[in-house]
Amino acid sequence: MTFIAPVKFAIDLLAVLLLALGIKGLSKVRSAREANRLAAIAMILAAFGVLLNSQGTIGISINSWIWIICGTLIGGLLGAITAKRVPMTAMPEVVALFNGCGGMSSLLVALGVALFPSADGSDGVVGELIRNFSIVVSLFVGAITFSGSIVAMAKLQGWLSTPSWTQSKARHFFNILCAVIALIGGIYLSIDGQNGLFLIVVASFLLGIGVTLPIGGADMPVVISLLNSYSGVAAAAAGFVVGSQLLIVAGAMVGAAGLILTQVMCDGMNRSLVSVLFGGALGASSVASGGGGGEYTNITSCSPEECALTLEAAERVVIVPGYGLAVAQAQHTLREVTRVLENADIEVTYAIHPVAGRMPGHMNVLLAEADVPYEQLKEMDVINPEFPGTDVVLVLGANDVVNPQAKNDQTSPLYGMPVLDVQEARTVFVVKRGMSAGYSGIKNDLFDLQNTSMVFGDAKKVLGDLLLELKELGVGSKG
Ligand code: NDP
Repeated sequence: MTFIAPVKFAIDLLAVLLLALGIKGLSKVRSAREANRLAAIAMILAAFGVLLNSQGTIGISINSWIWIICGTLIGGLLGAITAKRVPMTAMPEVVALFNGCGGMSSLLVALGVALFPSADGSDGVVGELIRNFSIVVSLFVGAITFSGSIVAMAKLQGWLSTPSWTQSKARHFFNILCAVIALIGGIYLSIDGQNGLFLIVVASFLLGIGVTLPIGGADMPVVISLLNSYSGVAAAAAGFVVGSQLLIVAGAMVGAAGLILTQVMCDGMNRSLVSVLFGGALGASSVASGGGGGEYTNITSCSPEECALTLEAAERVVIVPGYGLAVAQAQHTLREVTRVLENADIEVTYAIHPVAGRMPGHMNVLLAEADVPYEQLKEMDVINPEFPGTDVVLVLGANDVVNPQAKNDQTSPLYGMPVLDVQEARTVFVVKRGMSAGYSGIKNDLFDLQNTSMVFGDAKKVLGDLLLELKELGVGSKG
């Protein structure tokens, strides 16, 4: 069976190449879908390569194959059903769940090796220490990732609120105690590979709950991204445990990419990575949604017809997409509206806030679905100085990301988060169904301003009406 060794080498090499190409393609919206497919094929090849053992034989019994095939089919089916059924707006919950599954897999791999070690002793003392240490890291990070991700998912779904004790100093005591117990378990396990197993798993599991439970509101996206990074670290450690270079490489890439994304998001929201790392030591901003912030006193509303008349006279229009646009699935109707405006030589751009929607890049994906040219999408730092020269801003189902409180009110839970300065434009239309708050649960001072008009209704319905009005006015019909 020696021919299997070169076959295994070829499969591994192809997997690494496809993975690298996949990651490269993910950096562009246009190629992201294809790149995702390439990376998935790479993962299937990699898993197959692992099944061929390093001696160049298929050293797995028929019994094990049955387990492997059944596990793959059940897992694959569950993954496919989830991917088909879950709406785009619930993606963060799915990502959190997948992160949790990744953490749990690494934990189970390390647990299996720790409970049933191969008894050949060929590793030597140093090799054994490295292996035990990898088991410790895999168990520790895997358990934190799993329990933290499940808590994050439950909080995003609204199944779990933030208990009051997690806002007191008691949470620091709880977390430090769990960390110390996990450390003691880890030291025992590193030395002899057996004792301390139970201690480290239970303490790390509780630590994951303890650090994620106090976090809420605007910090949630950062936590999801951080847990994604943790799942990569756990996988890389599991790679050391089972001696899989491919798993080490893939895990390290996920860990590093997740950390970079976390840092980018922290910058985007003016949060410190350290405070997110240590469990929402952020005070007001980490408290879950539900705050108040006073009554509205100066709300002006208008019809799609009045909105169309103002748009007809505009030269420069900025669209601000938000979570509500995704809920209404109004991206295609929006594209029809912007085509009409462009036909009338009105300049249209889209302002993309880093955490608009419910996951990083949510708005980019949504607009790409509707064939919005990527060049028209402008990031917050680029578009903010352009608002004073803008005639009309159309805020579509966005709320927190355009709340001036984040800049003006030091007592606001949003204070410090960079926002889009839409109020600087001449006229602002806000399309939403009513006066309910956004994700952070607080009042939006933008709605009270003189130059803001609310256009109440579902985003898709309002945009549909707007399209009809624009057409009736003859906007964009050349000649
Ligand atoms: P928000 O959640 O602040 O506001 C969305 C608004 O959309 C609501 O005020 C709602 O008002 C309106 N809306 C809902 N359904 C519709 C509909 N069918 N038609 C029209 N309007 C609708 O959204 P933003 O995008 O402004 O902000 C994102 C928030 O989510 C931030 O606080 C961010 O921290 C948080 N977050 C972001 C994540 C990310 O990674 N991007 C992940 C998790 C949380 P009404 O009910 O009155 O219509």
